[in-house]
Order: sequence, then structure tokens, then C-alpha cells
Amino acid sequence: MRPREYDADRFDRMRRIGWLDVDRIQNSKCLVVGAGALGNEAVKCMVLAGFRRIAVVDMDSVAVSNLSRCVLFRDEDAGVNKAEVVARRASELCPDACVAPLASKVQELKDWDYDIVFGCLDNISARLHTNSHACFHGIPYIDGGTDGFRGKVQVVLPGGPCLECAVNKSHMRVLDSRFSCTGGGTVFVPKAAAEITTASVIAAMQVREAIKILSGKSDLCIRGICYYNGESCESDTLTLSVDPACPNHEETL
Ligand SMILES: [Zn+2]
Repeated sequence: MRPREYDADRFDRMRRIGWLDVDRIQNSKCLVVGAGALGNEAVKCMVLAGFRRIAVVDMDSVAVSNLSRCVLFRDEDAGVNKAEVVARRASELCPDACVAPLASKVQELKDWDYDIVFGCLDNISARLHTNSHACFHGIPYIDGGTDGFRGKVQVVLPGGPCLECAVNKSHMRVLDSRFSCTGGGTVFVPKAAAEITTASVIAAMQVREAIKILSGKSDLCIRGICYYNGESCESDTLTLSVDPACPNHEETL
């Protein structure tokens, strides 16, 4: 090999992580639900890491207040569907990536033929919908969430404890609340605090967990929910077990 020939390989440094399966990552088909702060960061990490078949779903439009934490949005995108903007800019970042925008609610999706589903959502109702469909189709689901400087990542593997296993009564009280970043819902809920550094950390963790799964290293994944506190820079993991009352496991119990 001539000196620096290895630098011609876009994924050379990734391949140096011995167990990382670049080919499997490139051939995987993934769904990103939500094209807000987490969705922007997740798709950015995905296309850079070699993911090439990505669908992004979001019904919201870009607002100026999104620009402090969405790397793929620009001022001129205000009013344009978020999924469409993310898909276009991600394709500019990596032209050989196929990023398909779906300008709709996740509840309207018919196709669930994916290898990994990412939850980059801001409401519990859509999270539980996505979780139940991923469980039904046996697709690993990686859910992220942020609240100011705090965030969490939950990895749901087929047959394992899911989001609904972990839902408590406080979640159920706001189940039908829709509190999007642009406030298009029928129920007014004050906007949650959000900033880019926590979104970046959480989305990166989500993509990292997907890389593990696709590389056959699910044993390295978060077991349950990883809580991240950006104020103290500490994290803690809550391990979960399957709730026998959870409707998403009827066939496995
Ligand atoms: Zn469950």
C-alpha cells in the first residue's frame, strides 16, 4: 500500500474498530421518527457513519426557534416541512445516501420494513405508537428524549422490555397531549426547554446503539434506560424487565 492510500477510503478509521460492520450499516434500512433537534443530529451522525438507506418522518414545518439546535436547517427553510429539509441537506452532506422524507404523522405510516427505528420525538403518544409497531414487527427501537440539560436513551430489542413496560401514570396523564416545537397541536403545553449540546449527546448515543446492533454487538447495548444529566455530566442506567401486563409482548409470554 502506498503511503496514505488508506485515506482514500471514507470509512477507513471506522474499519479500525475491529467489530464494527460498515457493510451491514451501509445496507441497513432505517426509519427516523421526528426531524427536530434529535432527528437532525441523528441523521447527521447516520450519514457520516455510513447509513445509506434512511426514511425520515415528520409532519411539522421548520420555525426560526428550531435554528439554535438543528444543524441541517437554515433561515430560508422556515415554513418548509422538517423531514424534507433534513433529507435534502443530509443528501448534500453525503450524496450517495438515500434519505427519503415522509411529511406525515408516524401514525399514518403503513410501511414498517426497517432494520432499526429511531424515536426522535417530543410526545409520548407518538413514542408509544412507534414502540408498539416496532415491537409488533420485531424491529429494534431506539428512543431518545431530552429536557433541557437532561436526556435519556432507551434501547428496545425484540422480545425485551419496551417503552410501554416502563410507562408510568404521569406519562399516561399527558398521553394525548401534543406539544410540538412549533405548537401546531390542539392542547397547549408549555414548550420544553431544549438546547443543542444535550440533543447532540442523546442523538449520538442513539446512533451508537444502532451501530452496535447492526454490527452484531447487541450485548453491548444499553439494557433499559440510560439517563444523562448534562449539568453534572453523570449518567445512570435503569434496568427494566418485561411487564406481563404490557400488550406488546402477548406472543412472547
Ligand atoms: Zn412492553
